[in-house]
Order: sequence, then C-alpha cells, then structure tokens
Amino acid sequence: MRLLDEALAAAEHRPEPSSATFAELNLPAAMVEVLARAGIERPTAIQTLTLPDALAGRDVLGRAQTGSGKTLAFGLPMLTRLQHNRAARRAGAPRGLVLVPTRELANQVAEALTPIAGAVRMHVAVVVGGASINRQMDDLRRGVDVLVATPGRLLDLMERRAVALDAVEVAVLDEADHMADLGFLPAVTRILDATPPNRQCLLFSATLDRGVGKLVSRYLSDPAVHAAGSSATPVAQMDHRVFVVDHEQKVDVAAEIGARPARTLFFVRTKHGADRLAKQLSRVGVQSVAVHGNLNQNQRVRALDAFTSGRSRVLVATDVAARGLHIDDLDVVVHFDPPADHKDYLHRSGRTARAGASGTVVSFVEPGQVNEVARLHKAASVSPLSTRVRPGHEAVREIAESGDVIDVVAESRPASVSMPARAQRPAGNRSRNSRRRSR
Ligand code: AMP
Repeated sequence: MRLLDEALAAAEHRPEPSSATFAELNLPAAMVEVLARAGIERPTAIQTLTLPDALAGRDVLGRAQTGSGKTLAFGLPMLTRLQHNRAARRAGAPRGLVLVPTRELANQVAEALTPIAGAVRMHVAVVVGGASINRQMDDLRRGVDVLVATPGRLLDLMERRAVALDAVEVAVLDEADHMADLGFLPAVTRILDATPPNRQCLLFSATLDRGVGKLVSRYLSDPAVHAAGSSATPVAQMDHRVFVVDHEQKVDVAAEIGARPARTLFFVRTKHGADRLAKQLSRVGVQSVAVHGNLNQNQRVRALDAFTSGRSRVLVATDVAARGLHIDDLDVVVHFDPPADHKDYLHRSGRTARAGASGTVVSFVEPGQVNEVARLHKAASVSPLSTRVRPGHEAVREIAESGDVIDVVAESRPASVSMPARAQRPAGNRSRNSRRRSR
C-alpha cells in the first residue's frame, strides 16, 4: 500500500508525455473514425498516459479527475483487445467487464462505448439494479461482448446463472473509491474472483484508501501506475466562489441563480432537502427537478431527461444520486448545503468544467458555517473569493446573468449526452459556455 502510494505520488510528478493523436496510437481505424466524427482527435492527459500501457496488455492503476476522459482511457484499449482476439459471441459470457458504482454511470459508460463498439461490430449491454432483470437476462442470452454493470445486480445475475465471467479478458473497475464508499467491495471481490486470473485489469480511482489499495494489491499484477493531475487539485478551469448568505435568504438567492439562461446543478445534503428545494424553486417559476436515492430508475431517468433536454433548467441532487452524473455543457454548480468533506466537494464540483470546458462553483455558506467550509476548501486546495450576499447582490446577479440560453429539446433524449450528440454540434461550440455575458 505504501509502495502504491509512492508510485502514485511519483506518477503525479512525472512530466506529461507529449500526446500523439488517436490515429498514431494504433487503434483500429474504424474506432478512430467514430472518435473523429465526435470531434475527439487528441487524447486527454489520462488517455495519453494510460493508453500505451493498456494497449500493450498491462494492468493499469489510474488516478484521474472526473470528466478527464477516463471512459475512453479504459474503453478504447478494452475494445481494441477484444477486437484483436475476436471470438464468437457466447450467450451470457462477456469478454469485457466494466464495474461501476451507480446506474447513471453505467448508462453513461455504455452510451459512450456503444458507438465505438458498434464500429467494430461489438455489442455493449448494461445490467443495473432498479431495472427489469428479465430484460437483462434476455440481453445476456442474446450474447454481449462488453458488459457494464453495478456490482449488486451482476452478483444477482451470476447467482441465477444468467452470466458467467470465465471468458472475461479485460476487467475494468471505474470509480473504485465510490464503489468502496457504497459498500460494494465484498461484491467486487466476489465478481473479480469469478474472472480468469490472467485477465487484464484496469482500475481507476481518485484515492487508494477506503479499501481500494487492497483491491489493487490483490487483483492487479505489476500495474502501470498513472496519475493525471493531483488527487487534491481540482481542474484549473473552475472558478470557485463562496456566497455567505443568511439561512432565510438561501432559497431566494438560489432562485435568482436558477433563473439564469443556462442549466444549474444544486447540491443538497438530504433526499427530503432535494425535493423541498426543487418544489420551492418551481413554485417561484424556476422549473426544477430533483434526483436522489428514493427515486426508481424511471423517475431518475425522467428527471435527468428533463434537465438535459432543458425543460427543467435546474437539477437538485444529493451526493449519491450525482455520482458519475455527466451532463455536457453544465457551467455552474452550486453547493446549496456544504458537502460532507473535501472529497465530496471535488466530486460535486467536478460535474462542471468537464473535459477542458470551464465552470463556476458556488458554495452557499451560512454565517455559522464559515469556518467549517473554509477548512474544507483548504483541504480541497481551493481559495475561493468570498462575498457576503443577499438576493439581488451584484455578485449574485453576475452568476444569474451568466451562461448561454439553452435550446429546449422537446422530445425525450437520453439522460446523458452521448458522443454522437456532440458530433452534431458545430466545432468550437464547447467553449461558448465558458463565456460570461456582461451585464
Ligand atoms: P469521462 O471522464 O470519460 O466521463 O469524459 C468526459 C467527457 O469528455 C465526455 O463528454 C467525453 O466524450 C469527453 N472526452 C473524452 N475524451 C476526450 C478527448 N480525447 N477529447 C475531447 N473530449 C473527450
């Protein structure tokens, strides 16, 4: 464990290698083409670091921030290997396995990988809790190449003998630290024990504590260790702000910000708090939806759909509900309630400024919480500008007037925006979000 920590620390200080294009990395041409159509031509830092080792078949331990392009960092080498070792698709026996902590992340990973897998005629399926197990069993019977799963549902399917993991050639653990947080490590262990010992393992985690180090020592053999950015430093493109605001005025300030032309994501601590804030905002004309652990899968998808389509401009989320949530073009995140610790602060904040875009992160702090939140910001290595505000304050108005007007998509659209959706956007559109409108 100490050795791993040291390896990660060393990896953090290694200079970044200069990045080749995807075409130069010897990926199958069909994959490069799909990426290019989505406007993805140059690997991100974590992709540049991990792709050569992962493509060479090595186990990889990677630390990267949310939104850094991790999905392709494991997806591309996995699909490349499966394509090279082409084997007939067997019912209930995936050759690639991706374990993730939440249903949302599972769906996002599958959405990102499906077009690339499709280009090399491979099939991706998702098995997650809260959705029909019979349908998932049907999918498995039809045969899948890559299975994206949350641990609980996968174990359930293994027990029903609907899936066997003896053909797995590449196993991926994404957000291993979140899986640990959610109590999934025993399940992950049972799952990995059911895969062949010589399969390749790619593990991504923001930290090695909370039991992740044990997984690494047990399942990764001589891993290549890579870190893109420090574990404690959020992406530079985030503008961090503190609004010190009286308890009684928080909802009014939230409503002012929520009424901005673009989408805003608010974080609260409790499920009840999420429902309450969404109702309070909607009542004053700021259409808002909430996501939290009490919703079933359909309700969550509907809420996320309303947000990504622009029909609701505000999403109010609890921490667990937002794990792995990926929404393109989200430029403001508000901590309506302070997060539990600096890691949650970074995870919440990481929902904005994804893949090189920029974003603003605002923390609402009640006067009695100033010291507590200051400690948390220090631990997260951020030094936000702090302003005492009330509704209508200049600093609030500045945020309230920022962002581009969103095009409301009338019809239903998937909860997360997949790569082909981005491909249809004109080049250069991404940076638009970062521009502030002047008052
Ligand atoms: P991830 O960290 O995998 O959730 O990726 C975050 C976002 O970055 C997604 O919208 C990806 O489509 C996008 N992305 C991933 N890799 C690249 C890349 N090399 N260039 C541009 N965008 C990318």
